[in-house]
Amino acid sequence: MIASPKSDIKSLQLDELRSIVQPSYRARQITDWLYKKRVNSFAEMTDLPQVLRAKLADDFSFDRTEVVRVLGSADTTRKFLFRLSDGNLIESVLIPASPALYGSPSDRRTICLSTQVGCAYGCKFCASGLDGWKRNLRPNEIVNQIIAVERESGERIDNIVFMGMGEPLANYDNVMRAIQTINAPWGIGIGARHITISTSGLVPQIRKLAEQPLQIRLAVSLHGATDDVRSGIMPINRKYNLSTLLEACRYFTSRKKQRITFEYILIAKVNDSDEQAHKLTNHAHALDAKVNLIPYNNVEGLDWARPSPDRQKRFLAVLRAGGVRATLRREKGDDIAAACGQLRLQTERTVVSA
Ligand code: SAH
Ligand code: SF4
Repeated sequence: MIASPKSDIKSLQLDELRSIVQPSYRARQITDWLYKKRVNSFAEMTDLPQVLRAKLADDFSFDRTEVVRVLGSADTTRKFLFRLSDGNLIESVLIPASPALYGSPSDRRTICLSTQVGCAYGCKFCASGLDGWKRNLRPNEIVNQIIAVERESGERIDNIVFMGMGEPLANYDNVMRAIQTINAPWGIGIGARHITISTSGLVPQIRKLAEQPLQIRLAVSLHGATDDVRSGIMPINRKYNLSTLLEACRYFTSRKKQRITFEYILIAKVNDSDEQAHKLTNHAHALDAKVNLIPYNNVEGLDWARPSPDRQKRFLAVLRAGGVRATLRREKGDDIAAACGQLRLQTERTVVSA
């Protein structure tokens, strides 16, 4: 018989710990060590009895997420590459105070988190999907990205976006479990309204998300305003077409009473025409959605290009003339977040070729 792998201690919720340890106030001591004092081992939990520490170490793993590389410097967008306990690489991006990202005030420090190793959805412009999908991240591996970045950078993060590698809604249970820990007062303590999930459009999971109680924000990667354009670059559109997706978005906004954001990468000669801009205006209007335009980021090995600055501005102008609240991400750094997946790919290829 193969023993099932141990759960990681950071994948558990406070109430689950309470049902495991005696007396139950020990559970809160454990979460304080994990999320307030942020120790790296059971041995460091010095106010727990020795036998309890030994038992925890027997029953649970205590994974570390090792920082392999950091790119960028203080005051700019920084990328962190991590090695997981099984050797897989993932990355997170720390975005310093930047103007009004996803409905948050401008003074927030945002982290862009990965949710999977690789991605199965194969969008044609994205680095994360290039080598396919490897596995889902576990809840502790999602939470550890925040803890490791705060430790390494000395910054306090107060805004979370699930826009790194992977499709968060394809790893729904683990992502929701991580969000509980990120949101809880006994955990990291970040308000649900400062947590945004980005999805390429998994319709059933958008509806499921609408039903759960937390006021998490939703960003939908549209990238095309008609089915032919969207299907050309996002295979998922053949499974859930635009009208199905927009219907699910409408359901989400009606349940949540909050606006969603459409993300729209501008790719030259693919989706940047005035016609697409007008159609996008209509979709945004119908849902009272915000639009974030993101000039395409070069990915090694892919032939797409970003439109000229004039074309970008013209696209934005069409949206604004139509009364849509739209922003165009500047070169400055926050668009590096959109290129999540690239650093890992680079490193893996260097490692493989070395
Ligand atoms: N899988 C989810 C979340 C991760 S992708 C999703 O697709 O929404 C996060 C964002 O980065 C998406 O909007 C995605 O389309 C964008 N992105 C991917 N590759 C990019 C590139 N080369 N240039 C700019 N944005 C990119
Ligand atoms: Fe996956 Fe999102 Fe990249 Fe598409 S854009 S391949 S869904 S990570």
